[in-house]
Amino acid sequence: MSLPSHPTLERVAFYGGTFDPVHLGHLAVARAAIERFQLDRIYFVPAFVQPLKVKQRVTHFYHRYAMLALALQGEPRFVPSLLEAPESIRASGAQASYTVDTLHRLRNLLPSTTRLFCILGMDAFQHIAKWRQPVELLKAAEFIVASRPGFPLDGVAMALPESLRPTLAATRRLHKSGAFAGKGISIHLLEGVYNDVSATAIRRAARNGHGLERLVPPPVAEYIQRVGLYDGPAEAGAPEPPHQ
Ligand code: ATP
Repeated sequence: MSLPSHPTLERVAFYGGTFDPVHLGHLAVARAAIERFQLDRIYFVPAFVQPLKVKQRVTHFYHRYAMLALALQGEPRFVPSLLEAPESIRASGAQASYTVDTLHRLRNLLPSTTRLFCILGMDAFQHIAKWRQPVELLKAAEFIVASRPGFPLDGVAMALPESLRPTLAATRRLHKSGAFAGKGISIHLLEGVYNDVSATAIRRAARNGHGLERLVPPPVAEYIQRVGLYDGPAEAGAPEPPHQ
């Protein structure tokens, strides 16, 4: 469903993720969202994950950011963002980045008339009730939930925290119209994106020396190869630099 256009209301989206690495699935979702919801800008926000806090090591933030910058070249409405850079997160005293906090920070940086959206794939949205302050989070932006192979959108309503779940009739309307607004939240469904690419598969392919050309934009494939980003042991990610 398209949103009605209004000349003075800017529409800006937050698109968070690990982006380890950014891939064609992310870009397909972003392009579909720009078109369907007439967005003016999408901020791609790589998350800072405290290396000691996670079981699976994640590639250093600035390698992930560099790949995003390369992938988003020539896309004027796609902006790589440092909102969750390690320096910003540490300055706030936090150990990790939480979407609810970043959305509040972004909201404060934008004019009050700007409509703020948050883009998520269904594989992530299905766990939204377990995220930090889920009710506040869902009220902090309008959510665009994208389909992903293996993760159909039928489960959107049930994934919400109980207090925010629409009635059965409203859930039916959500699936018919593609949108739900009520209880202080707004959800938009982004159907029809079925790009079967995952960062896990890309890291595995890189490690096995397989070509990445059909999985990531060419400059990203070249960067991965040049830096030897995923050459280490399985799921180790690139080593953290010594100053970390
Ligand atoms: P990994 O395989 O390491 O779990 P990923 O491919 O899921 O990574 P993330 O950076 O974790 O990539 O994803 C960021 C966001 O993009 C999430 O909301 C996720 O649901 C969404 N996303 C990623 N790939 C796709 C895809 N192929 N189709 C739709 N949504 C996607």
